[in-house]
Amino acid sequence: FKHGAVLLSLVVLAMTAITAQQLRETLYEIRKREEEKGRAIAHALRPLILPLIKTADAKRLQEALTQIARARDLEYIQIIDYEGQILFTNEVSASAEPPRPLSQQWLDGLPEGLDGMPAIVSWDESDGGIDVFVALVEDPDKAAPEQIRHARHLRLGLNFQDVVEKDIPRVMWRMVAFALVVLFISVLGLIILLGYILRPLRELHHGLRQVAAGNLKYEVPVFSRDEVGRLVQAFNATTARLRTAFEQIESMATRDALTSLPNRRAFDERLGAEAARSRRYGHPFGLIIMDLDHFKSVNDRYGHPAGDEVLKMVAKTIEANIRETDLPARIGGEEFAVILPETMSGDIKSVAEKLRVAIAELVVTQKDDPAANESIRVTVSAGAACASGHLVTSEAMVASADAALYRSKNEGRNRTTMAHRVAGRTEMIPKIEVPPGHDDHGSARNR
Ligand code: GH3
Ligand code: MG
Ligand code: MG
Repeated sequence: FKHGAVLLSLVVLAMTAITAQQLRETLYEIRKREEEKGRAIAHALRPLILPLIKTADAKRLQEALTQIARARDLEYIQIIDYEGQILFTNEVSASAEPPRPLSQQWLDGLPEGLDGMPAIVSWDESDGGIDVFVALVEDPDKAAPEQIRHARHLRLGLNFQDVVEKDIPRVMWRMVAFALVVLFISVLGLIILLGYILRPLRELHHGLRQVAAGNLKYEVPVFSRDEVGRLVQAFNATTARLRTAFEQIESMATRDALTSLPNRRAFDERLGAEAARSRRYGHPFGLIIMDLDHFKSVNDRYGHPAGDEVLKMVAKTIEANIRETDLPARIGGEEFAVILPETMSGDIKSVAEKLRVAIAELVVTQKDDPAANESIRVTVSAGAACASGHLVTSEAMVASADAALYRSKNEGRNRTTMAHRVAGRTEMIPKIEVPPGHDDHGSARNR
């Protein structure tokens, strides 16, 4: 922008200089023209005056000079001797300006080298008038300089002020119009140029603000291949790198490394959001919690790596049997959960059953140990809860589903239990009394 302002100032300066130069030239041309006109008149008058000096008397000469002055529109016309004494002059009317005093140039003696200079011009800068002198000799071209200097001279007073007054404003207006047009064009050019330079910068600024606000997906459009274009490209590349890194970190923070399912943190967050939504809009949603049965003995029997393989397969089975809008999660060592938004109690129960059956049908072969051709089968116990309308909290949902799971365990495992109702905020979570010895292994669930 600074450069634009400097450019504009330069243009204006140049315009002023051009205008001044044009004016000077015009003035010079006008002077030249007037000088020529003066010389031409002087030369035309010389042969007319010469015989009159010889023959006419003073009165007739004055009459003749007055006539000539009127006819040629002269300020005055005089015949002077070489010392500048006025010998004859026209009748100057009272309203007209008096003749100019003789210039110093004349009084100091006529300039040297008068040969070939039959008429000389002297300027009066104060009123724009000129004096034209022509020697009253028969043949000025042939006369010696000394002869010319001592001859009588015809002095003509011309005033070109009116010409200047007419011409200068005309030139001025032309110049002003020209200057305005150039100024307009340069300002327009500057605006376009600035727009061209500033647009990508504005886009970049917008992009920076987007990224600063956390929108790492924003890409700034690239308009050019110049420095600004490269800057934008570098900016986009940086944003892309940031986005990838951010996604990796996000995935690490919210996903379980073994099964790639959302982890406990992601589960808690989503459950809180669903509970809030349910409270606000009264929409139902479901929660299923599953715990693998006797998983400790799976590890003990087949080894920890085989146990991990089972966990992975269970995770895949869960993902394959739920809707895209549902959120599966690994919330503990061998504990999984599914959040089911906008789902009614009956559907929750069927999904839980479907998952239980699918897992029970799962056959895991031991990849690490091909020699061991024993395949592993596992079952899960599931507890499910449904939030429907009342003031439900995520804690209450988990407690209800957990209690139902506890019951599944106690009632023989590999089964699904539906919590009857989820306690609201103000209600107590009902304690489920489990008579000892109900477990098919004879021990209470270790939680
Ligand atoms: P229950 O039916 O009562 O749930 O019996 P359980 O053996 O499944 O219960 P318990 O809580 O006693 O044992 C859970 C076992 O899950 C203990 C641990 O060895 C196993 N486990 C937890 N996390 C992992 C894991 O990441 N990989 C493997 N292979 N095993 C795990
Ligand atoms: Mg467990
Ligand atoms: Mg278990």
